Amino acid sequence: MNSTGYTDEKTEYAEVCKWRDDAIADGWSHTATYDHEAEDRVCTLKKDGFTAMVITRELDSSKSKYKYNAEINAWGPDKLSVSLQSVIYNMSDLRAGLRRCNWCGANNVDAYMVGFAGRCCKPCLPKARKQLEYPGWTD
Ligand SMILES: [Zn+2]
Repeated sequence: MNSTGYTDEKTEYAEVCKWRDDAIADGWSHTATYDHEAEDRVCTLKKDGFTAMVITRELDSSKSKYKYNAEINAWGPDKLSVSLQSVIYNMSDLRAGLRRCNWCGANNVDAYMVGFAGRCCKPCLPKARKQLEYPGWTD
């Protein structure tokens, strides 16, 4: 899967679908994210203050370069994004993500907010800010 979640690999699409299904089985509430798109394509999940938006779209090959758009975006109770280490659903991975730097991947560190919802460690803060908080970034 590339960083934007577009892929031709059915296994990657299936893994994201399984993450969603496993989360729901583990008690996450789930609703359609958008009024105009079915829940089985884009859904918002919530549990214990965490939020995840899971995209599992099969794309129309006549309109798209890729066959699938499959991605998991997650945020912690602190509203900052959580990077997952595995596409295999695991609540402890999400909890550990609260103390994981989304820039360098360091674990068990104090996390700071950068940009709108970025999470990074103290050493990464200057470069992360430089990258995200350019002049006018809140416009
Ligand atoms: Zn870092």
